[in-house]
This record gives sequence, C-alpha cells and structure tokens, in this order.
Amino acid sequence: MRSLLLAFTVCIFHFNVTAQFSFSDSAVRSRICRDIFVLASDSFEGREAGTEGERKAYTYIISRLKEAEVSPLVANNYLQPFTTGHIKFTKPARLIAAGRSFSWRNDFGLCAYSANDSVTALWADAGFGLVIPDAVTGSYKDIPGISGKIVLINLDSPSKLSKDTSLEAELTPAVRIANAVIKGAAGVILYNGQGDYKSRLFDFSKSDSVTVPVIYASSKVIDFIKSHPSGPLTMAVHLERVSKTYNNVTAYIDNGATRTIILGGHYDHLGKSEKPADKGAYCVGADDNASGTAGILELARFYTTHKDPRNNYLIILFSAEEKGLFGSEYFVKQMRPAMIDSINFMLNFDMIGRLGCEGLLVTAEASGSSPFWPRLYREVKHPGFRLKKVASSLPFSDQDAFYNKGIPVLYLTTGLHQQYHTPADRPSTINYTGMAGLLGYSERLISKAGSGEKVPYRKVPEINLYLEIAGFLLGYFGDLLSF
Ligand SMILES: [Zn+2]
Repeated sequence: MRSLLLAFTVCIFHFNVTAQFSFSDSAVRSRICRDIFVLASDSFEGREAGTEGERKAYTYIISRLKEAEVSPLVANNYLQPFTTGHIKFTKPARLIAAGRSFSWRNDFGLCAYSANDSVTALWADAGFGLVIPDAVTGSYKDIPGISGKIVLINLDSPSKLSKDTSLEAELTPAVRIANAVIKGAAGVILYNGQGDYKSRLFDFSKSDSVTVPVIYASSKVIDFIKSHPSGPLTMAVHLERVSKTYNNVTAYIDNGATRTIILGGHYDHLGKSEKPADKGAYCVGADDNASGTAGILELARFYTTHKDPRNNYLIILFSAEEKGLFGSEYFVKQMRPAMIDSINFMLNFDMIGRLGCEGLLVTAEASGSSPFWPRLYREVKHPGFRLKKVASSLPFSDQDAFYNKGIPVLYLTTGLHQQYHTPADRPSTINYTGMAGLLGYSERLISKAGSGEKVPYRKVPEINLYLEIAGFLLGYFGDLLSF
C-alpha cells in the first residue's frame, strides 16, 4: 500500500494518447511509471501464471491496450489461453542398492517419463535396450526373466546402428523405455546418455509417462550396482503431474504492410516467495518483468500514434515464462507457416528497468541471430550506455522459441541484479529515465531494421552457445557469491 501511495505522488498520469510524442517526453516516464507501479503492486500478488494474480495483470494490460486503441490479434479477444502440463516433486526421490543410499540430483536424476511410484526388485542389464530384429547387440532375446525386474539401459547406440536413419525412432530413450515396460519391467534405470538425450529426458514440461519409475543414473551408481549383482534395488519417485491453463495477451497494429515486427515480453512473475526468510512476501517483479511489459505497452502507444506503413506490429505479452518459457513456446508452436514467413524479426523485452545498477551497461543478446545486427548496432547510436553483445540466444527468455524457429531476434536487457527473483525487486528501484532512453533506442533500431529488405536469419554456432551459457552462469553465481 505504501508503494502505491508513493506511485500516486511521483506519477502524473496521462490517459489520453493521441498526439505524437518522443521517448524523452516526461509523459512517457509517467506512463511507464504508472504501469510498473500497478503491475508490481502487492495487490497483483506477484502475477504468478495460472493464478488470480495473472488474471489481474492481464485485465490491467488489456485495459491499457484498449485505452491506446490497439486491437486484439484475434477478433474481440486479447487473450490466448493455452494448457500445459508440468511436474511437481512432492518428496525427494530415493535409490538404494546393496544397502547404500544414493543422492538425488547428485548421483541420479528423475526422467520426465517416470511414474509416481516406488519399487523394490532384482535388476537385469538390458544392454542398449533395443528391440530390432536381427540386431547383434541390445536385443532382449538373450536376457531371461525381465518381468518384475528393474531394467538397466545404456542409452548409447551401437555405432553400426546409430548411422542408420531408418532406426532413429528405435534409438530414442522413449522407445527404449517403452520396450522395457512392454517386457514387464518394474522400473527403469538409464545411464550413459548423450548430452542432448539427457536434456530431453529432464524436460518436465512434458506430461507423457509410463507406468513404472524411471531414473537416470551416473556411471558411479551403475558401476556400484553392477559390482553387487545379487541384491535388490529400491527406487522411489515422488511427483505430481499438474496441468494448468495460462493466458498470453496478443494485440496487433495492422498497417496493411506485408511484413510484421513482433514486440514481446513476459508479464508473469513468481507469486509468493518460497524462502522462509521472506515470510510469504510477494515477489512483485518490478524489473522482472513489469518493466518489459510497461515498455511494450509504451511502444504499442507509439506505433498507434506514429503510423508506420512499412510494418505491422504484433504485440505479445507472454504468460508462464517463469514456469519454463511456456507462453512463447506455445505461441511459436501455433504459428502458421504464412505467419512465420511474414515476420521480419522479433524484439524481446525482459528486465529493462535497471540501467545503471550494474554500470551503464545494456546487454544485446542474440546479436548473432542475423548478419545484419552488427551493422545495425554500429550505425544506431546509443548515448548513455555501453552495449555488450552476446551472439547466442540464451535459453532463459522468450526470444529463444522464435530464434529456434528461424526468426531473427533482438533482446535488450539491463541484466541481473541483487534484487532479481526476490521480494525486493520493487518499483522504487527502477530507473525510469534510463528505461525511456532504452525504449527510444529500441524504436530507432526498429526504424532502421524495418525500413529495408527482410532481415536475414543466421544460426549461431553451438560452440558460442555453450561458452556464452557458461559465461552467463559464471556471472550469475559470481554475483550471488558477492551479494
Ligand atoms: Zn524471471
């Protein structure tokens, strides 16, 4: 409540947006200030996706779009509901072999296909776990008595088979797990998977499951089990599959152009803090991401009052970003080919309100997603801050789904800070003048990038991604340690 009172004292509200304006106008700061104070007030309960806080937030966003006379993308409905499943862990998982208890998340992890179940049984080694007629290796035919046992499966592939593209499906973890279940396995332990298999195995946004517990064990665990062949194993997996409906907000400025620019960012946040020390305070997410939401609303006002016949503008406020980028993934999945073809590029706005708190630095992620971007960043001046370019699209925000679909993306952020994902990420910490400057810079980038040929797409080499993720995580944990 105190915060809201403060908002009323520092903000001069401007409801009528009909005249042309510049991003240095005080009216811009007033509007983004109002939007951030409202969205990041305690009464919005931290805007957790799928809760009353989400409903309050999208109701407010829609009211602001209507005031600015921005039409919905779909006739009469700004909301784009979608339902996604995810998994909640209700208790720590257990794995016991020959009296030794292994540690969940250190020695073994849960596989997303797992059932919520416990089992104690003898084990059997099914090699590669493949069921392929005439295959020399991995066939179950030489392994007696699979039924009722916990089955060990090596996720590597025999080199002879891995080059045969007709066997692609048989070599996937899902099919190998299903083979074991069909043969009566009481549980499955996977090991030695390649990196990309591993990430898919842990994708808990998927709700497919089998009827037995499935875990992924380190080689240390597997060596121990194999050196104790006679004893039973105990596996216990405690999880709950949750299916929830969330709502993206979509709007469209139709200028009759052939190309469309997407302005996107998430409006959801974390809800109540789960840390005992925070005593149930709301994480109101002023910077993350009321700032990006307010910024997109302001750009929507700009493009309704400054008509740009060269481009249409698609405005998307994503939900469930904090749950795992669900809103942007859903939006991209439902895009038709004609729509994808019409998109020139996408700008993501996530955490743009803290210019100056870690130096006058703005990070431009995904700067390698088009060969045109380096030139754009060179030619469009940005007095007031330094620009740090990161070539890859890091998989931590909503631009990534668009990048993976072959759409060039620009993602500007003022970066992480001490208040990130805590109840202290409040409107009083936002640099409103810096934010308005960043929006003005974004408008100049858009104007230049949207004035010529369609912006070409480029895929950044994966080695960059690994190095840049490592750099990001080092920076993140380094900051945490120094806080
Ligand atoms: Zn966040």
